[in-house]
Amino acid sequence: MDHPIVVVGSGASGIHFALTALRKGRSVLMLDVGHKGSETVRPGDTLNGLKQNLSDPAAYFLGTRYQSLVLPGNAGEYYAFPPAKEHVFRTRSEFQMQSHGFSPLHSFAAGGLAEVWTGGSYPFDDRDLTAFPFGYQELGPYYTRVAQQIGVTGTEDDMAAVFPLHGGLMEPLDLDGHSAALLAAYGKHRADLQERFHCRMGRARVAVLSRDLNGRKKCSYSGRCLWGCPNLSLYTPSVTLAECREFPNFQYCAGLYVDHFRMDGAGKVTAVVAHSADGQTREFAATSLVLAAGTLCSARIFLESMYRDTGKVAELRGVMDNRQILMPFVNLKMLGKPWNPETYQYHQVAMSVRTPETGDAVHGLITTLKTALVHPLVQTLPFDLGTAASAFRNIHGALGMININFADHPRDNNYITLDTDSTPHKLAIHYRPEDSEPQRLKRTITDFRNILRKLGCFAPSRTVHIRPMGASVHYAGTFPMTDTPGPNTCTKYGASRDVENLYYADGSTFPDLPAKNLTFTLMANATRIAEEAF
Ligand SMILES: Cc1cc2nc3c(=O)[nH]c(=O)nc-3n(C[C@H](O)[C@H](O)[C@H](O)COP(=O)(O)OP(=O)(O)OC[C@H]3O[C@@H](n4cnc5c(N)ncnc54)[C@H](O)[C@@H]3O)c2cc1C
Ligand code: SF4
Repeated sequence: MDHPIVVVGSGASGIHFALTALRKGRSVLMLDVGHKGSETVRPGDTLNGLKQNLSDPAAYFLGTRYQSLVLPGNAGEYYAFPPAKEHVFRTRSEFQMQSHGFSPLHSFAAGGLAEVWTGGSYPFDDRDLTAFPFGYQELGPYYTRVAQQIGVTGTEDDMAAVFPLHGGLMEPLDLDGHSAALLAAYGKHRADLQERFHCRMGRARVAVLSRDLNGRKKCSYSGRCLWGCPNLSLYTPSVTLAECREFPNFQYCAGLYVDHFRMDGAGKVTAVVAHSADGQTREFAATSLVLAAGTLCSARIFLESMYRDTGKVAELRGVMDNRQILMPFVNLKMLGKPWNPETYQYHQVAMSVRTPETGDAVHGLITTLKTALVHPLVQTLPFDLGTAASAFRNIHGALGMININFADHPRDNNYITLDTDSTPHKLAIHYRPEDSEPQRLKRTITDFRNILRKLGCFAPSRTVHIRPMGASVHYAGTFPMTDTPGPNTCTKYGASRDVENLYYADGSTFPDLPAKNLTFTLMANATRIAEEAF
């Protein structure tokens, strides 16, 4: 048997790397903290069925300690993670962070952060890939391969101008009534919206099944997406982890926190050092090590390893994240209209707006309100609870939210390093937005409010929320793929230029971050690296 490739992390990046390597006949040893959630409850029930049939629905929806309640004053965040997904953010005492200007999230779950993602799967086009050492022609086939593997719905419409039409797309899900009304309004005002705002709208691309695929069932419109899809129709990386575990050449070791790797005198990886939950230290020989622990955790492993080897603390410059704005709105034509709880819950409509002067695109995902927790919204109404709840019933079907994503680019004053004065050493993240950012955000908010007005919607300015940097959880850029060799960079195949036999297969490798959600590209790129470099 060949030496296994050691992969750290079972998230979207690591698991697609592993699947490709396994299919090529390579052996893979995956090391993962790998926290697991509980079994799905009553898989045959819809959301309302759960409310009626569970013996303690409050515990299921809000938690035994009401930990999923969003209390007033929660700085504009409109939902909390449900109790069934708590394992996704359960941490490990060895991993500590301090941040300046950045609100980071990380996950030690089997499947990683995408166990709670909303499935938005957006291919980068040639414009997005300008700073990458390859273009769409090279990456496109891997989008197709991942789409065929996980199931992505989408169609050819106006958004095809910014979302390239790769293969493997399934027909979209049935539209909910409000999303259909928004697309109809766009159809009516399309020419004006395109001319004035360079605005396009169309169906979202979402990793959810409209047809059965590889033993997974198509979406049954249960409305349970936020609480965990009982059919596995909404893709999560743990689906692919289960598939990898069917391979005899795959070994999955969960419960292990990888602290650092060791090198020989020639700067080549020789072993990986990990801690088990009971504090035991284990060492694994490694001839090829692939870091796919998520951009922040991969950075931590590299920094700790280099510090132990050289006594020096590196600074990884150029870390990026998408700034996001949440803009709730009311669709005046939908006031008093009923809403259907038995629908797909997350976004079904996507929007792209391009600023003509800079050429920069801004990407918007529109979620209409169906079955999400409504109390964070009810409490924003300026009435007592009874009146607010009754008023809310009339506007429920008219409410929606745009999540606006901005591009980010590498800048030297944004960096990650290690604070070695503390025990354990802390990952230290420093982020400062560009000085011109406030004007850019202000202008975009005005444009989006005007676009919404044209669509017959009203977005109250006081409910617009600029999320802190880090909140989008689209981290990238610490070891960018470049054609030009340099420290803390990697080749187009993810090979480190600092350490021999070390590879990156996650967002660390991105030299730039377009305004689109990055996870579909993480999966396609990890697949590409495994296919072409191993
Ligand atoms: C609420 C929410 C919604 C989102 N929606 C979208 C969306 O619609 N579209 C989109 O594109 N993206 C979305 N994202 C972002 C998406 O989830 C991430 O981009 C993606 O999960 C990153 O995958 P990754 O594999 O690179 O890293 P991670 O998901 O962070 O996985 C890291 C893996 O490494 C393991 N690990 C980490 N450190 C160690 C260590 N030291 N030792 C051992 N194992 C370790 C973890 O256990 C985990 O398995 C969303 C995120 C959130 C939180
Ligand atoms: S994707 Fe959402 S609506 Fe569809 S079956 Fe899963 S939980 Fe239900």
